[in-house]
Amino acid sequence: MKALTLAEPGRVEYQDVADPEILDSTDVLLRVTHSAICGSDLHAYHGRIQGIEPGVPIGHEYVGIVDALGKDVHNVALGDRVTGSFFVACGHCWACRRGYFSQCAVVALFGFGRRLGGLAGTQAERVRVPHADTTLIKLPDNVPSETGLLVGDILSTAYFVVDRAQVRPGDSVCVVGAGPVGLLCVEMAFIFGAAEVFSVDLVASRLQQAEALGARPIIGGADAARQIRRMTQGRGADAVIEAVGSAEALKVAMQAARGFATVSAAGVYTESALPISMGRAFSQDLTIRAGMANVPAVFGAVMALLSQGRLHPEHIFSHQLPLADGAQGYHLFDQHQATKVVLTVGP
Ligand SMILES: [Zn+2]
Ligand SMILES: [Zn+2]
Repeated sequence: MKALTLAEPGRVEYQDVADPEILDSTDVLLRVTHSAICGSDLHAYHGRIQGIEPGVPIGHEYVGIVDALGKDVHNVALGDRVTGSFFVACGHCWACRRGYFSQCAVVALFGFGRRLGGLAGTQAERVRVPHADTTLIKLPDNVPSETGLLVGDILSTAYFVVDRAQVRPGDSVCVVGAGPVGLLCVEMAFIFGAAEVFSVDLVASRLQQAEALGARPIIGGADAARQIRRMTQGRGADAVIEAVGSAEALKVAMQAARGFATVSAAGVYTESALPISMGRAFSQDLTIRAGMANVPAVFGAVMALLSQGRLHPEHIFSHQLPLADGAQGYHLFDQHQATKVVLTVGP
């Protein structure tokens, strides 16, 4: 089959790789119809994730058709159109029984190499999905594949971090970063009841997109937090979401938060340590939260919002390319010339 692989940092290849096979009774094989390029794929692209092997498919966002399944798979059937979490979880270990799927004893990510579980990625014509009953979710007929694939990662991430920011009806919410995840957090914050949302970014075109969703655009930088305080009677935002994954963005997020606020970080941090002001967290009584989205715990709710027409995330797609042009997709996304690239797979 054909797949995208990472020959070396910065060089994505479209090449022939071995077809996956069913290895366990809880596996599903998917014929992938759509994949996408994610901000976290750029960490791999830039060589910041160790253990990615050349010749192994990359990518972790997907929609596909169930093509084969092991005898212990019960939640999906042959021919079902499904999406799924970017990581797999067993569903029955200590953590899974408590709903902490991201902390599963055998958690493994698609397409991020040996150190993160070693599963072959989804930017491929076919993919093996272990622990399919926990990992996959069916797409309702009225949910298009392009938007449905966002449920497996960034839409569920938006739900997870906005929920963990403890957004309450009537709140002023600040979202730092207006990339794909930040934009979806703006939409999600309104669903959680935000009265107003401030969107902070350095890129004017991204701020325009946030504004189109009803957010107040704030140019990032030293003055951003001061502007937000000025617009909240001097207090700061009731809840803050950090959707970049950098020390600078986290600093702005903490400065924009009012006393007793929660700062909820969606960004993927690859640094081993970040300078953060615990003095500020102490004096402002801040709660700081970070974490990999617990996708299987929330994807049912996210799918319901999509299916009922409450969420309209299609605005984040800027490019649709065939899998064969994946290298171009990575380049465009890396250069900020694309907001979100969807890859169509197969005929
Ligand atoms: Zn992703
Ligand atoms: Zn588990």
